[in-house]
Amino acid sequence: MSEPGSAGKSITTWLEPLRSVLDPCRRVDWGRLTALGDALDQALANHPVGADLPAGAERSRRLRAVRRELAARGHSSGEPGLFQLLVQFVCGYSDIDLRDATGLGHGTLIARHGSPQTRERWLPRLGAGELAGIAITEPHGGSRPAETRTSAAVGEDGTWLVNGCKTWISRLTEATVFVVFFRAPDGQLVAAAVDAAQPGLRRRPIPPTGLAGWTWGVLELDAVRVHQEDVLHGDGMALLREHFAGYRPLVTATALGGAAAVFDTVAERLSARQTSGELARLRDSALISLGRAHVQLVTSLLGTVMAARFAEVGHVEAELWGAATKAHGIDTANSVVSDLALLLGASGFRADCQASKIRRDLSGLLFADGIHDSLYRTAGRHHTTSANPVVPAPRARLEPVSMTA
Ligand SMILES: Cc1cc2nc3c(=O)[nH]c(=O)nc-3n(C[C@H](O)[C@H](O)[C@H](O)COP(=O)(O)OP(=O)(O)OC[C@H]3O[C@@H](n4cnc5c(N)ncnc54)[C@H](O)[C@@H]3O)c2cc1C
Repeated sequence: MSEPGSAGKSITTWLEPLRSVLDPCRRVDWGRLTALGDALDQALANHPVGADLPAGAERSRRLRAVRRELAARGHSSGEPGLFQLLVQFVCGYSDIDLRDATGLGHGTLIARHGSPQTRERWLPRLGAGELAGIAITEPHGGSRPAETRTSAAVGEDGTWLVNGCKTWISRLTEATVFVVFFRAPDGQLVAAAVDAAQPGLRRRPIPPTGLAGWTWGVLELDAVRVHQEDVLHGDGMALLREHFAGYRPLVTATALGGAAAVFDTVAERLSARQTSGELARLRDSALISLGRAHVQLVTSLLGTVMAARFAEVGHVEAELWGAATKAHGIDTANSVVSDLALLLGASGFRADCQASKIRRDLSGLLFADGIHDSLYRTAGRHHTTSANPVVPAPRARLEPVSMTA
């Protein structure tokens, strides 16, 4: 397995058989999903990103070319809820590095909470294939965004000047806009859309173990100018909670797609070895591993669909389910893949083997978009306190931030 899995196959073998439970109200345009799968396969034929293509500038360029090509074919904008979740599964099946192949990604924050000027400035560019990054984590610990130290001071002309250091930032050199979280001059946590070309932004890339399609590392802000219209409407913590309630199911679906690709490879390899006579019979232990893996992946996907639906409708437990199903789904994907990888033998240990790459990428998702002990802790706290955390107020009720504070 050195090539990405076919997007079309992920739809026919994994999603179509579950159609009646995934989409009981027939909200998804399945013809459009199939068209997207075909377009993705075509874009990957034009810009191959097999596991034999190492991380680096060329890989990053091709991934962006895939995103732009899909955008040009009308598969750019993040459609709400279930459709985008299924797209993420399809993209993850092809390669987890394709997690930004379509959709607004973190640009959703701009779409939902940006001023008219900011939306007008960035949404057409994101829709045409550019990328949004997010900068929350700081060196003292990403699991505590309430303790954010990056802060703004009021400049001479009344605009804000933001200083601080963000770390472990993905899409470090690829993003054209970052949604940056910092303290407003009044101490309130806020977020703003910051042009990646702004003076005062300095980047220090760090080589990651996995998820290496995009560059990753430190983003320093030295008097980065933020205008009133750049500041997203609403309290930063509320924005974070609302955003990740919807974003985490997308990440989880991508991971489960990657694990499903490994499952198919292993099942096909074993079948081929048996058919050719190389193996007289398949051991029960291998069959048990496959049977267990399949049901684990499918039930995790169904849980993820539930979390996405909760986020879509603004359910009171959307944040909780987004966190818990992310931790559970990605733990499941990791354990399934490490279990099944043995059945590929030593060939599955080659660095240029797609299954090896999927393992490396999945390990990164244990940290990215919420580290798992923190996510399970959120769920545990919910089950043990009466004052349960709830999703933030709907957009209409979030107050604009004053620049003069
Ligand atoms: C591949 C990848 C991509 C990422 N992309 C981005 C990105 O684009 N933007 C971004 O902002 N961030 C990004 N991150 C950062 C990610 O969100 C953080 O790694 C994550 O939030 C955890 O933060 P941390 O690594 O600083 O760990 P910490 O917050 O330092 O936590 C480390 C451990 O300490 C534990 N801990 C925390 N407090 C306590 C306590 N009081 N007592 C005991 N234990 C405690 C935590 O639960 C955790 O197990 C990315 C990370 C990875 C790996």
